[in-house]
Amino acid sequence: MAKKIRTNKKHRICRVTGCKHILSIYNTENHCHVHQQFAMVRQTPSMSLIKQ
Ligand SMILES: [Zn+2]
Repeated sequence: MAKKIRTNKKHRICRVTGCKHILSIYNTENHCHVHQQFAMVRQTPSMSLIKQ
């Protein structure tokens, strides 16, 4: 049961405009660790305190 870890050869950068964080090759998300949480929060309607 050897599960392949998906890696990306290219350097990917956080999708948030102005954020220059380079994503880890093991990070399958499109956001850095900081903005991952941010992106998740934005999906929650009750968290309307977040500026957009
Ligand atoms: Zn970021």
